[in-house]
Amino acid sequence: MKRRKFVHQAAGITSLGLLGGGLLSACQPAPEACNGDQETARTGNAGETLEWKMVTTWPRDFPGLGTGANTLADYITRLSNGRLTVKVFGGNELVPPFEAFDAVSRGTAEIGHGAPYYWKGKAPAAQFFAGVPFGLTAQEQNAWLYYGGGIALWREVYAPFNLIPYPVGNSTGQMGGWFNKEINSIEDLKGLKMRIPGLGGEVLKRAGGTPQNIPGAELFTALQTGTIDATEWVGPYNDLAFGLFRAAEYYYSPGWHELGTTLEAFVNKTAFDALPVDLQAVVEVACQAANMDMTAEFMARNGDALIRLQQEHGVKLRTFPDDVLAHLRQITAEVLRELAEADPMSARVYESFSAFSQQVGAWSDISERLFLTERSAS
Ligand code: CA
Repeated sequence: MKRRKFVHQAAGITSLGLLGGGLLSACQPAPEACNGDQETARTGNAGETLEWKMVTTWPRDFPGLGTGANTLADYITRLSNGRLTVKVFGGNELVPPFEAFDAVSRGTAEIGHGAPYYWKGKAPAAQFFAGVPFGLTAQEQNAWLYYGGGIALWREVYAPFNLIPYPVGNSTGQMGGWFNKEINSIEDLKGLKMRIPGLGGEVLKRAGGTPQNIPGAELFTALQTGTIDATEWVGPYNDLAFGLFRAAEYYYSPGWHELGTTLEAFVNKTAFDALPVDLQAVVEVACQAANMDMTAEFMARNGDALIRLQQEHGVKLRTFPDDVLAHLRQITAEVLRELAEADPMSARVYESFSAFSQQVGAWSDISERLFLTERSAS
């Protein structure tokens, strides 16, 4: 209770009351960091102020994603009462979007904000922590990370890069993407050049498509000029902001490839370890608060944006046919199995993710799924 009282008084933020001790993980991966000697060594000097640089994979101030990174920086600055300030850089301001991970790893910046699947070329297992096709919802994803062993594994995956990962934001349900032709059968995916990152991209490839990963800021032009035939981005809120409805006719659901994608902060471990213990707690609690804030914001704004896309911009909503989804699900199982076979770390994460998915899925089926079906029927 002492810690929670401190947080409230220091920040004047009553909304942080949700952060129970069970989520505060400062001592979980490295219990030795919490022994008395080290705590004394890292209490820091009173009056000392630090400034961290945050690099992001998003355009500066981009709704939901860029602003979410700003929120995290603001929480850290305010919770520390200005002892640790964080300056945010949009993609390409300090480093290109997809170099954020390396920049924090080598210490050019102390903290970054992005999406774990962007780093699959460096650490294949990272993809599980973003979103897995036909995987977990936003709520289930947080449950796995915080209480199902996910974060501990994620830390192992990023440890070789001298980085500590934190869940910071969740897009909630994404959309299946923007297309200029209707998708009526799996044949319609063949030869399709589509921006779709991570495991979803691998699944599309095996379905006959050509996946691409393009930073968000370049998407509209790529789609409009025909560099790509189709794109997924996030959901109605973000897709409306990029004006993707001006470059494609059909908007498909569901976002089979990532229904509850976790966004992340990654912190340079050397910089984190050098912080006094109270500022370490500030960073962790700020990450948790920003995670909740972004998730709630996406859920709220997607509903509003979906109505605007339909009513103001005449977007044609479509749903992927059942047999197309069944085929993609079948390929997904194959892709995940091969990923696990090819990389020992991915195998461990896959095992944890699969076991948790089965367990939480059974609960979600008899609780939320039945409830939602009944609610929409009435
Ligand atoms: Ca996406």
